[in-house]
Amino acid sequence: MFNLVIFGPPGAGKGTQSAKIIDKYKLAHISTGDMFRMHISQNTALGQKVKQILADGLLVPDSITIDMLEEEVQNNPDATGFIFDGFPRTVAQAESLDKFLEGKGQKIDLVLQLDVTEAEIKNRIAERKKVSGRADDDEDKLIKRIDEYFTKTIHVLPFYQEQGKVVKINGIGEVESIFGMICAAIDEAK
Ligand code: AMP
Repeated sequence: MFNLVIFGPPGAGKGTQSAKIIDKYKLAHISTGDMFRMHISQNTALGQKVKQILADGLLVPDSITIDMLEEEVQNNPDATGFIFDGFPRTVAQAESLDKFLEGKGQKIDLVLQLDVTEAEIKNRIAERKKVSGRADDDEDKLIKRIDEYFTKTIHVLPFYQEQGKVVKINGIGEVESIFGMICAAIDEAK
């Protein structure tokens, strides 16, 4: 079992690198952002509850997010490990993930921190907006999302640093060379 958190601000390349990690290491991918977008597009009760929150670029309440994530883990009993993408985004989520995994005799093995500057994030999301059609990639929503990252999500880092689990990766450069650094960190932690 190998559990990995991919961590970084919006536009850091978490989705891009997750796809490559999954392909190589055969981990099950859990992206809470993708899950919320799926609920919204299918107009489920959960989707209706979170639609406006996502549109505003704010964080969904912890209890809703944690319940959804735990259910998804339970739905994948055969997985040989998970890559958590976009989760945890608050210290409360990180603490509950630790407890949840501990109850299953598991743990987080590695936290990959994708390090990018704010200017780079803004550029990338402006580019992504042209193809993603994501309303929350609009400039004003992006400012909210970056604000949520720097006020709430950033505190997740020291939580995992105290556990000695964080490897910082320079997230600016060629996708392949960043992936190379990620593979080295995973191979070392495995
Ligand atoms: P993402 O695709 O990871 O950028 O997430 C898109 C949006 O989904 C975020 O701006 C939040 O509104 C919501 N979201 C995703 N993951 C979480 C999380 N772990 N906690 C709270 N809200 C989340």
